[in-house]
This record gives sequence, structure tokens and C-alpha cells, in this order.
Amino acid sequence: MRIAILGDIHANLEALEAVLADARSHEVGGFACVGDVVGYNADPAACLEILRSMDCPVVKGNHDDAGGGNQSLDTMNPVAAEALEWTRCQLDEPQRQWLRRLRMVRQLGDFTIVHSTLDQPSSWIYVNDRFDAMSNFTYQFTPVCFYGHTHKPCVYVKSLVVRTLPPQHIIIQPGSQYFINVGSVGQPRDGDPRACYVVYDTAAHEVIFRRVAYDIERAQRKILAAGLPALLAERLTEGI
Ligand code: ZN
Repeated sequence: MRIAILGDIHANLEALEAVLADARSHEVGGFACVGDVVGYNADPAACLEILRSMDCPVVKGNHDDAGGGNQSLDTMNPVAAEALEWTRCQLDEPQRQWLRRLRMVRQLGDFTIVHSTLDQPSSWIYVNDRFDAMSNFTYQFTPVCFYGHTHKPCVYVKSLVVRTLPPQHIIIQPGSQYFINVGSVGQPRDGDPRACYVVYDTAAHEVIFRRVAYDIERAQRKILAAGLPALLAERLTEGI
């Protein structure tokens, strides 16, 4: 079965729709989401309702937690906090409740999904190198775990030691464990503005990174029309 793993959608409807169309054209039969459905961009309710209607397993991201009203915005940077204040007002109470009720970690067959890291999933730690990844592997009990949070696609593989691999076609080797950042659908930060997600082929034991062009200008116009910070529109052009 081919499963599309999406993350850090961040209310970018144009990017989400392009990714779903791309996934369906690649014979994907299931979906999972590593969190941050809302925040930053202009379509939180529409993106949330699409995921809810797909009955897609979703884990909670820090923006979902804050957008649902659970988390103080004090620790967020000012731009993120402003967008989350706006996001809360765009959602009705059942939608905010859906966000609050998301689980932190889910095991789905032979893989796990988490937003940040399995060792401290509610601390929202950023995994930026293989040393950060080592702590995660202590709590990883499946061959593969998919995560997000940094918005930068990346692969860590643990055999005798933990190594970093570039985000490319990965063959899952028996006896090794993989901690795979699926990149961001709605706000990529690796210098490539195209939406990013992965396809996990559970029969072929392979993971394929996909980049999908979408209508960035339309997403930007909506951000500005909503009165959200202009920086949030500008960064989509560069993918930073
Ligand atoms: Zn995010």
C-alpha cells in the first residue's frame, strides 16, 4: 500500500490541494499527517475540514495546540502568535476541540507519526542534527517514524550509529530504523518553495520524497487580504 505522509500544512489550501492531487495521481491509498494543520496561512478552517473529511490519522503540532486554544502564545515568536490569534477566531468551537483532541503520537502498523520527537513529544523540540535524532531513537519502536516541525525534509537512519541522509529515494533496510522528516506542505523552509511530502510504499519498503508546484501567488494574496503579516506571504516565494 502507498501512504502519503503530509505535515506542516499550516492552513495553505492551495498547497494542500496540489499535494492531494499529486498523491492521488500516484496511486496513494491512504494518508497520515504529522501535525500543524493550522497557523501562518489563510485557510485554517478549510484545511482542517479537508483532513477531517478524509478520516486521516493526524498527530498534534504546536500550532494545532495553540490554535485549539490550549497553549499560551507567549512563547511563540510575534509573527506566529499574531497568526494564531487570527486563526483561533477563524475556527468554530468544534474545530478548536478537534485540534485539542489530537493525540501526540500514533502508531499505524509498522510506522509511527509524531510532530516533533518521540522522546519529549509535548516539548516541541527541534531535531536539527543526528545528535538530536539519537534521543528520539531511544523511544522509537517501529522501523520507521515520520515527523515534521522543522519544515526541512531530512532522513536519520540508525544502524550501529545514527547517520544523516539527504531527502531522496530511501529503501528501508531490515535491521535499521528511520526517523524521517516529511518536509512541509504549506511553508517549506529548505529553500525550495514547492510543497513537500512523502509517499511510503509499505510493500516495496521505500520512501519517496515528492515536491509539488502550487499557486503560491493565490495563497499570498489571501494572506495579505486577511491582514496577516506580510512576511508570511513573502517567505512562500523563497521557501524559507
Ligand atoms: Zn510547523
